[in-house]
Amino acid sequence: MTTSPTINDFIRAIIKRDLDAGTHPRIVVRFPPEPNGFLHIGHAKSSTLNFGLAAEYGGQCHLRFDDTNPETEDLQYVDAIKRDLRWLGFDWGEHEYYASDYFETLYEWACRLIRKGLAYVDDSSENVIRSMRGTVTSPGSHSIYRDRPPEENLERFEAMRLGQFHDGACVLRAKIDMAHPNMKMRDPLMYRVRHATHYRRGDQWCIYPFYDWAHGQSDAIEGVTHSICTLEFSTNRVLYDWYLDALEIDPRPRQYEFARMNMEYTVTSKRKLLNLVNEHVVDGWSDPRMPTLAGLRRRGIRPEAIRIFCESVGTTKVDSTHDPALFEYCIRDNLNQHAPRIHCVQDPLPVTLTNLPEDHEENIEAPYWPHDIAKEGTRSLPFSNEILIERNDFSEDPPKGFRRLTPGGMVRLRHAYIVRCTRVEINAHGKVMHLYCELLKGSRSGSDSSPASQQKPQGTIHWVDARRSLPVIVREYHHLLSVPVLEDELWAGLNPSSLIEHSHARIEPSIAEDSPDQRYQFVRLGYYWRDPKFIETSPPIFNRIVSLRDSSTKTKSKSTAVAPKKNKPQSAQRALTPDEKQWLQRSGLSAATGLAIYQIPGAQAFFEDASESAPSASVGNWMANQLLPALGDRPLSELPFGPNEFSQLVQLFDCGVASSHETREVLKLMLTTDDSPTKLLARVQDSILSDPEALRKMIADVLREYRDRVQAYAAGKVGLKGFFVGQVMKRSHGKANPKQVQELVSEELARITS
Ligand code: ATP
Ligand code: MG
Repeated sequence: MTTSPTINDFIRAIIKRDLDAGTHPRIVVRFPPEPNGFLHIGHAKSSTLNFGLAAEYGGQCHLRFDDTNPETEDLQYVDAIKRDLRWLGFDWGEHEYYASDYFETLYEWACRLIRKGLAYVDDSSENVIRSMRGTVTSPGSHSIYRDRPPEENLERFEAMRLGQFHDGACVLRAKIDMAHPNMKMRDPLMYRVRHATHYRRGDQWCIYPFYDWAHGQSDAIEGVTHSICTLEFSTNRVLYDWYLDALEIDPRPRQYEFARMNMEYTVTSKRKLLNLVNEHVVDGWSDPRMPTLAGLRRRGIRPEAIRIFCESVGTTKVDSTHDPALFEYCIRDNLNQHAPRIHCVQDPLPVTLTNLPEDHEENIEAPYWPHDIAKEGTRSLPFSNEILIERNDFSEDPPKGFRRLTPGGMVRLRHAYIVRCTRVEINAHGKVMHLYCELLKGSRSGSDSSPASQQKPQGTIHWVDARRSLPVIVREYHHLLSVPVLEDELWAGLNPSSLIEHSHARIEPSIAEDSPDQRYQFVRLGYYWRDPKFIETSPPIFNRIVSLRDSSTKTKSKSTAVAPKKNKPQSAQRALTPDEKQWLQRSGLSAATGLAIYQIPGAQAFFEDASESAPSASVGNWMANQLLPALGDRPLSELPFGPNEFSQLVQLFDCGVASSHETREVLKLMLTTDDSPTKLLARVQDSILSDPEALRKMIADVLREYRDRVQAYAAGKVGLKGFFVGQVMKRSHGKANPKQVQELVSEELARITS
């Protein structure tokens, strides 16, 4: 890998071109939030892009508060924005700027335009101005004040500044072209009268500049070279350039637009987020369900995960709405390396171990990182004759493939013993109240010499000691929206179950010694940490940062993606041995998949370990169809990767980050190198995208999938081309070159519809 930045989007291509041509000796970019709310995940995209560009190209990124609206802006937002950006890891040094510091210069420059006959004061009311703008298809008409001489305009503009007019009495407008095809150019407003106190400038001003007038000129004042904003400002670019031309500014900034980042089930409008705060739907801007950086931080997400996500969605010109599964994958992947594994029982069911004395007390040293032999560290798990297990780890009437405790069944208590359920106590309402189990002597984890360890439990479950565990409250968060994309009102789309509280949870006592900001994996449940807002409360409150598995994979059928090979040995045709049967039942796999794994030494353990954090059906499929056939004569133990890495790969596939083709390619590389699956995937995706053949194949897939839309296109709905391009960009995770995709889609559409 080279150290020079990879050119994987159009903005980097432009910057490289400008630097190569010597247009600018170095780049200056800016991140320009308006201090009228907290930053959200969309702003993380924009700031990661801008601060990232400055770092990659040895330039500089300014933090500029775009604070020209006195009514909505506030110092608390300035402070929150700075705190959140620092937390994300960005440093703007001394380059902290405020558009409100430029009010004097902007005023001077407006006078300059007036003197040049390029701006005028209009006394028309807001309604009249609006009615005279015309429409997209018809030109507007001239205001009766349009031809005021410059001297009179200068006088009136000064009177505006001096407070001689009430709000709305008049405005300053640029004199451009009322018939311009771009509505933004029809004598746009530059200043309005607003007698309001500004959070920084106090009552110094009673006229305030509009966005278009303030923004480009602020860029110019700061020597910004590349002013990067979102697509909705594309039509403002002509005006941006017009103002700079009129002021004869040189060298000058250029505006470039990229697509906003949207995410399904997520609100990314500051106005709507403010509504949620004001209506107390959430616990302020930093509620752990909020997509604000403050909310994500309080929830426990680490800043690197956010940056990696923002980088991996790419920077494109095609609007797309991302599946939160990709974000969750990045969060999980990042926590995996930082979160020791511990036990917490969310919904406890008491279990008495009947063949242990009542005063039995034992301490079991259990590893914090059982999945990673390179990492050391253990904690002591108290164990006695009274323990607690998860209520849903027991079933009186188990469904097929249930790998936990059943009446008469056996499970292993993780890091401890095998137990067999001998009696179930049920109350008058049919609710299971208590279990009685027998412990298999000599079955303690790791003691494999005794005959008891030959016993095959149905599965492994987590547990805590009933007496020496600690009470905790566990909060589980779900999307704030119940619909992927808001179509109606915000209130109609709210998810009523976005917060689920487990108030009787119990946790192993080792946490008492940890620092309060420690993140954990609660085995089999997810990643958690203590809610920093309630660090003093007792019992402690833990936030679920993210679940262990992508919840959406349960509904998305992946079964078609990995088709079983036709030439596979038909092992299921003969009668199964009892051991094989037991394995199939325990693994929950189909006969063909399960037996392929059964036959390879070490593969069962590999499967079980990998299934800890990826859906076992997927792990089974990928092992049986891809990994094991690729092994040849090599034993599993000689692979350069273990079950943990394999499970990461399966998760990449399962949450849609990697296509099945890409997953196979990554697996091939994993067999020979020891880079992480995520790194290898980036490499594979980059190489695929520079190959037009691979892009063509992706396009063909999209057109095949949306055959009905291709027909509609052929029947004249040519606007659908954008949709196809969008789909291809989505599949390329925003990394394909949009221009190339557009060309190839056009070619392909022409070919199949001709
Ligand atoms: P909102 O519509 O939520 O009020 P905004 O765009 O008005 O957001 P600003 O404070 O003006 O909020 O945004 C600062 C910068 O962040 C702008 O350059 C804006 O284009 C960018 N930005 C805002 N939302 C997104 C998003 N969803 N994806 C990418 N960039 C965004
Ligand atoms: Mg804005």
